[in-house]
Amino acid sequence: MKDQHTLCDIPASNRMTAELIAPRTPMPHDASSVPIFQTSSFLFDRYEDMAAVFAGESERYIYTRGDNPTVAELESLIARMEGVDAARGFASGMAAIAAAVLPFVEAGSRVVAVENLYSDAFRLFECVLKKFGVTTQYVDGTDTQAVVDALPGASLVYLESPTSWSFTTQDLREIGAAARAQGVISVIDNSWATPLFQRPAEFGIDLIVHAASKYLAGHSDTIAGLVAGPKSLIDRINHEAYHYLGGKMSPFDAWLVLRGLRTLHLRMSRHSQNGLALGRALSGHPAVTRVRHPAFEANPGNACLSGYGGLFAFDLEDSVDIARFTNALKVVKIGVSWGGPESLVIPAQAALGLSGAANVFQRFGTPAGSVRLAAGLENGDALVEDVVTAIEEART
Ligand SMILES: *Cc1c(COP(=O)(O)O)cnc(C)c1O
Repeated sequence: MKDQHTLCDIPASNRMTAELIAPRTPMPHDASSVPIFQTSSFLFDRYEDMAAVFAGESERYIYTRGDNPTVAELESLIARMEGVDAARGFASGMAAIAAAVLPFVEAGSRVVAVENLYSDAFRLFECVLKKFGVTTQYVDGTDTQAVVDALPGASLVYLESPTSWSFTTQDLREIGAAARAQGVISVIDNSWATPLFQRPAEFGIDLIVHAASKYLAGHSDTIAGLVAGPKSLIDRINHEAYHYLGGKMSPFDAWLVLRGLRTLHLRMSRHSQNGLALGRALSGHPAVTRVRHPAFEANPGNACLSGYGGLFAFDLEDSVDIARFTNALKVVKIGVSWGGPESLVIPAQAALGLSGAANVFQRFGTPAGSVRLAAGLENGDALVEDVVTAIEEART
């Protein structure tokens, strides 16, 4: 816990930072930002040009559901950031997750997934894959041996480090190596850490998924997703999911993500600092029983992180009225999602009541007194004061 608090200083020399700020590909008219190619189709001069492209003899843009120059610029930037061959842009994080999973399972397959995974990823496994004969075995991701023991015979292992709500981390190196040895495809949701703070491919993880709607875009104004990985696996996704599921990222959304990325390093540093400031204030607070944040709890994958996102959870003791606490917040707003400039809370008590099938919070026993807080970009002192004051007002 001690020295980890300084992890989030991104070195000024970070090579990635320069790439984030300016496009690397020369732009038309030497534009300093990537233009939006808002077109569905790309025209051919002659019959022969079309026939050659269809025959695979030459490559060029054809149709935006396949490739688009604005989206391609983002895809290649994410691939470089994650240190892998290729990436694909999707219309949402969930479209990216579905496309990363579907090519690698079939009727009779077993998926191994970490407990407390993102709620709609859980529903993809429980409400969609189950219907097609794919079963999912959930394991405690902090128990590395339990994950490794579950791998033989599985088709895919689905990780999220840290997990949603419990914010526990997995030993990516051990799990990645064991999955490779067993021929199991490993997929990780890396939305929380971003490639600035965790590059899962370095630990042997195969496919990296991002809800770009969160930190990568960073302004609460877009829904987008990405999958990054080796060319062989991205090719399989292209041929077995991407084109036919049709959840393609739009040129405008790609442009918003590209614009967001230009300040990712600055935003992440503030999100981290604000999350840590809140975590410190809450971990010393008498009404708080637990702070669920990798800087405040020892877990096997903490060493894979070189910095922290600002999203975490804390558990309030029974003497705090959750509804009153939530309503007493002034700086922090009430809302789902995270990764934008504004701080947001979701009380577990509300999430536990989510209607519909497969409630992940009930399934994995999220305590009713738990509160998820996304630290935004506001002044850190103001955030701490807001949350501490709201707890005082709600204590009975
Ligand atoms: C929001 C979120 C997603 C899904 O992203 P969408 O763009 O909303 O589909 C996936 N994983 C995590 C951890 C998320 O928080």
